[in-house]
Amino acid sequence: MNNSIISWTKHTWNPVHGCSHVSDGCKHCYAEKISIKYGFTKKPWTKQNEINNVLLKPHKLREPYKLKEPSFIFVNSMSDLFHELIPNDYRKQIFDIMNDLPQHTFQILTKRPKAATKWNYKWSDNIWMGVSVENKKSLYRIDELRKCNAKTKWISFEPLLESLGKINLTNINWVIVGDESGQRFRKMDHAWAREIRDQANNIILHSFSNKVLHSLQNVVHALKKLTVLKLYGIKCPIKLIFPLFR
Ligand code: SF4
Repeated sequence: MNNSIISWTKHTWNPVHGCSHVSDGCKHCYAEKISIKYGFTKKPWTKQNEINNVLLKPHKLREPYKLKEPSFIFVNSMSDLFHELIPNDYRKQIFDIMNDLPQHTFQILTKRPKAATKWNYKWSDNIWMGVSVENKKSLYRIDELRKCNAKTKWISFEPLLESLGKINLTNINWVIVGDESGQRFRKMDHAWAREIRDQANNIILHSFSNKVLHSLQNVVHALKKLTVLKLYGIKCPIKLIFPLFR
């Protein structure tokens, strides 16, 4: 369990690590970049490599029990909880834990909403289900989300890659809008974000710029690196200076 610098959550919990690309929004997946850079997975997150890249981490399952304060927890920031290679029995264990800890709010985000819709298991009110929507082609995910049994439903329009025009936001409770991070980010026109804001009446809307986030990440990483190097007084293996996303 890690503290998160993502502005809309408090902690990240990764009982699964690794994924494979499903749509345009995955092109510059930050989780893939981090994972390969720091050796958590070896190969690009393609469909062919998914068998090697989607890794279950059962030793992390019970981490939420350690949190004393009620918290927002982003589930699987380094994967997709509804990835096809995650066995149902394992997913059930994750849901059992979320159902068992009503004091926490668990935020799930998927690009595989059909699997979430079919997930016929207990959804306590503290389990928020969200979909990523990056372009018009992925708007269908919102309709799928509406069929899902979660009480609170949310959308992450991030990275927003084009104007989405009129969107049906019926029964959606929470919306996030953001641009892409990374050096090769695809530029977001702020008018596209305003278009969403203007339709999101009565919905809690949270917008942010990843470029700011990215700069903050760099500062945090640089500080961690300096601190650890200072502590050890020598060059350290990269994994020692970057425990944040494990
Ligand atoms: S679904 Fe999410 S975690 Fe998986 S490859 Fe795409 S962006 Fe990355």
